[in-house]
Amino acid sequence: MTTQQRIAITGGTLIDGIASEARPNPGVYVFGNVISKVGPLSDGEKQEWASAKVIDASGQYVMPGLIDSHCHMSLHQGALPGVKFPSSAEFCALWAGRNATQILHAGVTGISVPGGKWFADVAVRDSINGGLLKGPRMFVAGRGLTPYGGIFDQTLAWTPELGGDTGPTASAGVVCNTIDQFVTEVRRQSRFAVDMIKVADSYWGDIQTVSQAELRAVVEEAHRRNLKVCIHARGSGSTRDSAKAGVDWIFHCDWATDEDLDAVAAGGMPIVPAFTSPHIAVVHGAQLGFPEKMRDRLKRQLDVNYRAIQKARERGIRILAGTDSGNLAAYGHGRWHGMELEIFVKEIGMSPMEAIRSATSLNAMTIGLEGRTGAIQDGMLADIIIWDRDPIADISTLYKTEHLKLVMKDGEIVDRTTEGYLPLKIEPPRA
Ligand SMILES: [Zn+2]
Repeated sequence: MTTQQRIAITGGTLIDGIASEARPNPGVYVFGNVISKVGPLSDGEKQEWASAKVIDASGQYVMPGLIDSHCHMSLHQGALPGVKFPSSAEFCALWAGRNATQILHAGVTGISVPGGKWFADVAVRDSINGGLLKGPRMFVAGRGLTPYGGIFDQTLAWTPELGGDTGPTASAGVVCNTIDQFVTEVRRQSRFAVDMIKVADSYWGDIQTVSQAELRAVVEEAHRRNLKVCIHARGSGSTRDSAKAGVDWIFHCDWATDEDLDAVAAGGMPIVPAFTSPHIAVVHGAQLGFPEKMRDRLKRQLDVNYRAIQKARERGIRILAGTDSGNLAAYGHGRWHGMELEIFVKEIGMSPMEAIRSATSLNAMTIGLEGRTGAIQDGMLADIIIWDRDPIADISTLYKTEHLKLVMKDGEIVDRTTEGYLPLKIEPPRA
């Protein structure tokens, strides 16, 4: 939604999402939903902006809104008291809508949603775009396309009467076992207005469940329909074959070898490791009720993944910031989106500014707005956040929302005083 208000953000420090250094804010001028100018005004412009609403950011830090390239909205509905059918399409949509408010209030103005139930996320994206709900910009997939043995294959957990060969309809995955089934599902989801297709290889990457031929077919069909393709690929073969098939970005890549990473570098696509959710389980898992065995498993996997991503970065592969928030109820929305940046700095060796770029200008591609948002520059969409603490000096600031002073999305200042949702008790994960 656009307002035609003029807003001038003056004072403080500007982190523009592209430059390698922060600098004194030369003035950020927003007209409607666009940043019309960054820099000092000419005498003529001063007249134009004389009646603008002024936000004084003195002593504060102005930067582009965060983008989370791996955030699930309707994947896990939690066990709430009184809810009898949490996986219904209707309940999933309401749940996802509630999550959207929390995410925006945490300074996240864009999210990429790689998989959810029904077309709940499509409905929420449309409700936000249409002005029914407040939330971040959303770029959404439908159910994950998963062969037998893929992470979203739930056929074993369901009787054929309920799920049939393709898994239960209320699951986050739809089973595709032939090229025809993959292509038909891409066409079907395209018909229901998704922005991208999510493919799912095996849970931990120990086996490769999806072939290069299937991936090529998905990419060809999706790209013909202007859809992006992303894949859950923890394995060596799935990483390499995804790169060769030309997917748009790859999640995780834990077991990628040098040769696999060379294929990704040659393909030119970024990797979204999504360290945050396993990291939370490892570090805060005891309080969150994660069994010790699960925490150990995740810790080992994380170490493998860190090494692969360090090597990917050495090859110049872009590493983007996604958290996998909403994958389980324990990874709740609006809490962890900035944490991936802290992990990038501590474990991967990025500078704080490099980490910030991975969640702003570089991440804009994962919401379909490359070059249009994620940076504070002339002509960009006005998605801006302001902190009262320096995120370069302490990158953890970016998930400490008590330091978040202002959120602007699409030129509109978000009213964060009315929450629009009730805090929920977080339920421990099942082993
Ligand atoms: Zn995920």
